[in-house]
Amino acid sequence: MIAGVDNNSIVYLNGEYLRLADAKVSVLDRGFVFGDGIYEVVPIYNGKPFRMHQHIARLQRSLQSVRIDIEYTEAQWMALVEGVLARAEQPQANLMVYLQVTRGVAKRDHAFPAGIEPTVFCMASPFARPGTAQRERGLSAISVPDTRWLLCHIKSVSLLGNVLAKQAAIDAGVDEVLQFRDGFLTEGSSCNIWVVKNGVLMAPEANHLILEGIRYRFLAQLARDAGIPFQARPISAEEVNVADELMLTSATKEVLPIVQYNGNSVGAGKPGPVYSVLRASYDRVIESL
Ligand code: PMP
Repeated sequence: MIAGVDNNSIVYLNGEYLRLADAKVSVLDRGFVFGDGIYEVVPIYNGKPFRMHQHIARLQRSLQSVRIDIEYTEAQWMALVEGVLARAEQPQANLMVYLQVTRGVAKRDHAFPAGIEPTVFCMASPFARPGTAQRERGLSAISVPDTRWLLCHIKSVSLLGNVLAKQAAIDAGVDEVLQFRDGFLTEGSSCNIWVVKNGVLMAPEANHLILEGIRYRFLAQLARDAGIPFQARPISAEEVNVADELMLTSATKEVLPIVQYNGNSVGAGKPGPVYSVLRASYDRVIESL
């Protein structure tokens, strides 16, 4: 039994629907041995998947990038996710779908093994949307060096760098980290970071140094729709220090303000006007699903 999860929830593993507590993979699964796999996290609002098409497209891109050979169409991925959602205890609740594919099980050897089937796993768990305190009081963050590899655009399960970054935040008593490579902002431990200066919304370019979140284009579009100028460009540590507003986006955090950074207030030390517009737009889109 695993603490903190519903051990009776039904998950998908390699063609079968099983109780979470009964779903097992081999110790020789390359996901376990090498972190040789990729994943997705998709939010479901009142039973309705949000931006599923984009999540499946990113999953397909990740699979291609790491050369895991699995010939599933978008419809097949959808059917698998819908199978898990249909078996959820509360299918109409807010849920988080986790999908993972590893290269499969084989004798331990770095080289790709021939003739094995990828391991495919999918589960849905309850998802609590960010509450009033986080939305209205905001979050705190510190800066840390980005020590990860150079293929951060792949949504790989090899997340040790991200795990260490997140723990650095916890150890410092803050909510999140902003990672910097060669003096320029990359992203948070598991979120994209946004900077506002003089009414302009900015984010680092979506290249190999960050994971392009599904909320990356979405937030940029919400900004454009609201008449807020958006720029994707390199952002230096000095610019972050003097930002008017900082915010983050991810599937689970949606969009949240960062109001304390390296022990200083960001702007007025409370959620700013650009955040408020984007937060309200985000909520409207969710409500209209
Ligand atoms: N960057 C990293 C490193 C992440 O882990 C995530 C969340 N999976 C994101 C950005 C945000 O991506 P999304 O908006 O798709 O949740």
